[in-house]
Amino acid sequence: TQTDQVDPTKVADRHAELSAELTEHAQRYYDGDPVITDAAYDELYLELVQIEESFPDLVTDASPTQRVGAQVGSSFAPAEHLQRMYSLDNVFAIDELKAWAERTQRNAGTTLDYLCELKIDGLAVALVYEDGVLTRGATRGDGRVGEDITANVKAVANIPDRLTGDDIPALLEVRGEVFFPVADFTELNEKLAAEGKPTYANPRNTAAGSLRQKDPRETAKRKLRLIVHGIGASRGVRWRSQSEAYDLLRGWGLPVSEHSKVVSDVDGVVDFVEYYGEHRHDVEHEIDGVVVKVDDIAMQAELGSTSRAPRWATAFKYPPEEVNTKLLDIRVNV
Ligand code: NAD
Repeated sequence: TQTDQVDPTKVADRHAELSAELTEHAQRYYDGDPVITDAAYDELYLELVQIEESFPDLVTDASPTQRVGAQVGSSFAPAEHLQRMYSLDNVFAIDELKAWAERTQRNAGTTLDYLCELKIDGLAVALVYEDGVLTRGATRGDGRVGEDITANVKAVANIPDRLTGDDIPALLEVRGEVFFPVADFTELNEKLAAEGKPTYANPRNTAAGSLRQKDPRETAKRKLRLIVHGIGASRGVRWRSQSEAYDLLRGWGLPVSEHSKVVSDVDGVVDFVEYYGEHRHDVEHEIDGVVVKVDDIAMQAELGSTSRAPRWATAFKYPPEEVNTKLLDIRVNV
């Protein structure tokens, strides 16, 4: 085979080099300050995956393929998540998406309803509500420990300090994405440009930078918003499906997406992917793909997760757009 002819030392060197590069890029990305495009990052990541497929001995717990996000720095207090936060595996083509659905269905041993959602290009956060009161906000960090940004999340206008309505659970941990709405971002940049000031590269990095300001008053100056797309620990509530959970969360005043849809087979998923491929810019936030989830919560638990991502969900990534490839040029101008 091809791998027999490859010098293993060289492969190990390349593996170490890629791991170090990806770790550094991830750190910068979570700080809101990336220096390469997401597509370029995904390409390096794929190279690492392919090396590890041919040389499984090179896989260690420290590999970027085995862990979530980046380690947290010392700017904020550490916040241990009540339940682990994961990343998502990716597919980049419709046939890969169909293969994922077939595999998942086979592992489940039954037909599945899929919850289709937009993949919001923002910053992942976890919020804890105790008896309906927001007691903590945290970044994802490495999935186990994030940064305590409670004061900053309280500066996001649509994050409720207190849940309202009936049957509020004793404990509720939700996950979501904080983003900078495209219209507000454009307005901000136009204003800065008119004043002759440097503009921001893109909504995602600006959101990440704004949410992790030392002074929450700086966060409040940006029109950041949240959409909830996941549930962590809870006590005093039961849900059969993720879509049912969203209805309850909406009822308690938490912002959930208006664009999610439950479909009963993979063709429905493909329709959703194709629709938003064409209507990417008709949504209030940037999207970099579609997230497909098994809707049934008991089945999610049964399918479980790898060390990095749930087996019950995948992200279909849209091809990168022109504007992303200009990220570096824009940064140089700043
Ligand atoms: P990811 O962004 O590919 O997917 C996981 C995340 O998607 C989740 O943690 C969640 O926060 C988010 N998400 C958005 N909408 C969601 C929804 N509806 N349901 C569930 N989750 C949703 O994974 P990642 O591990 O955060 O980051 C990897 C990606 O980030 C790379 O593929 C790359 O595109 C980008 N990245 C870029 C750089 C860079 O230097 N440019 C560095 C690191 C990562």
